[in-house]
Amino acid sequence: MGTATATAAETNWARLRRRLGERLVLPQDAGYDQLRLPFNTIYANRRPAAIARCVRPEDVQACLDFASHERIPVAARSGKHSYAGYSVPEHGLIVDVAGMADVQVDGTAARIGAGAQLLDVYEAVGAAGQALPAGTCRSVGIGGLALGGGISVIARKYGLTCDHLTGARIVTPDGCLRTVHAQCEPDLFWALRGGGGGNFGIVTSFTFRTDPAPDLAVFSLKYPEGATADTFDAWQEWVAQAPDELWSGFRVDAGPRSLPSVGGTYVGPAKDLHALLDRMPPGVRDVKEMGYLEAMRYYAGPAEPGKPFVASSRMLRRHVPGSRVAQLMDGQRSVAILFDSFGGVIERVAPGATAFPHRDATASAQIFVDIVDMTEQEARGILAGIRDGLGAGNTGYVNYIDPEMPDWPTAYYGRNLARLRKVARRYDPDRVLGFPQGL
Ligand SMILES: Cc1cc2nc3c(=O)[nH]c(=O)nc-3n(C[C@H](O)[C@H](O)[C@H](O)COP(=O)(O)OP(=O)(O)OC[C@H]3O[C@@H](n4cnc5c(N)ncnc54)[C@H](O)[C@@H]3O)c2cc1C
Repeated sequence: MGTATATAAETNWARLRRRLGERLVLPQDAGYDQLRLPFNTIYANRRPAAIARCVRPEDVQACLDFASHERIPVAARSGKHSYAGYSVPEHGLIVDVAGMADVQVDGTAARIGAGAQLLDVYEAVGAAGQALPAGTCRSVGIGGLALGGGISVIARKYGLTCDHLTGARIVTPDGCLRTVHAQCEPDLFWALRGGGGGNFGIVTSFTFRTDPAPDLAVFSLKYPEGATADTFDAWQEWVAQAPDELWSGFRVDAGPRSLPSVGGTYVGPAKDLHALLDRMPPGVRDVKEMGYLEAMRYYAGPAEPGKPFVASSRMLRRHVPGSRVAQLMDGQRSVAILFDSFGGVIERVAPGATAFPHRDATASAQIFVDIVDMTEQEARGILAGIRDGLGAGNTGYVNYIDPEMPDWPTAYYGRNLARLRKVARRYDPDRVLGFPQGL
């Protein structure tokens, strides 16, 4: 084995086809063009050399054996929602685990195939009267989401998705299918909780601890254009003093005068939430009580086709003046910043206890630029100006992966970086899983 260098033409795909049959999809095969499309359509022109539609761990083993032997780059794919598109260059192999999407709930344990999409996870977990904190878009894959952390709308009360991980089955680049948990391969188990998708191996299934499904109250507060500075200052103070039961997001949409809005979830009855909302500047208030599953369906939203966008992030550790945010967003177009509150249970896990390093963050800031009437390069320029203008230091969330993030290893991993690199080299010494922002 050595560094992955072979080209697509030199690769003996027939050998892998003998193991996978029609589950190996090559550019000339029917369905290839549909299958290769990622959610972020700025990468829609990428043409990987092959896509393997894996339906069992042995298929993943065959792919990693093959990639190591043929010295071709290889990357896992679950829900296709990476902000950076594929993690393989054009002569590489995509190991698609979407066919491994079974969800089994037994008491307070959910065993979830790595290719499951979030809405399917919620339907199965919710039907069993249980809850798992995960993300908001229906078609995001549990694979990428859980490995990078997993921010949810009940995160302050229940923690990150990765905090609920109790075990995983993973195929490492040596082709070995490993069962990983706190007692078995503890360093790898540590790394899988926030160390980022695409590193260490390809997960085939996860086991998560679940909690009894709570009743929730979902709210929104709408403010007028031009209120960004005052409301963002107030929101930061408000969330810092709120109980764990309250989770909130603050959104700013660009415009001649930017438009702020607040939303969130309360674990408990609406009457208690109203008392908390009374402490925010008055806005147009909407509150609805929902069961856990109903709320997760609401946040999952309707099925969304892919779209072209660029995105990035920062992790806030201290108060960011509202006037700075207003200044960055007033007069812009096609940009939104979504601040998600941290704190609560997230903060009470020690920064080194899992690979997710941003335990002391007060909020994450996710910046999106929709590519409408502008080039990708223009959009990236706007994105970088806002990302760096927030003044939140060299920080970022690996699940909002930004191909142009300056010093990405420190930004995503902070002080867990050295240990993560050690684990990566132990399990992937030849960098079979190498990608531009891979460990
Ligand atoms: C519309 C939208 C909404 C989002 N909402 C949230 C949210 O609410 N909370 C949040 O925390 N994040 C959210 N995200 C970010 C999301 O967590 C990341 O984009 C995540 O990486 C997506 O995972 P995926 O499996 O869908 O993507 P993919 O593109 O399939 O994979 C992402 C990365 O993980 C790797 N990977 C995938 N599967 C595996 C596997 N089985 N084993 C090893 N590596 C694997 C891939 O190689 C790649 O590097 C959102 C993204 C979008 C586009």
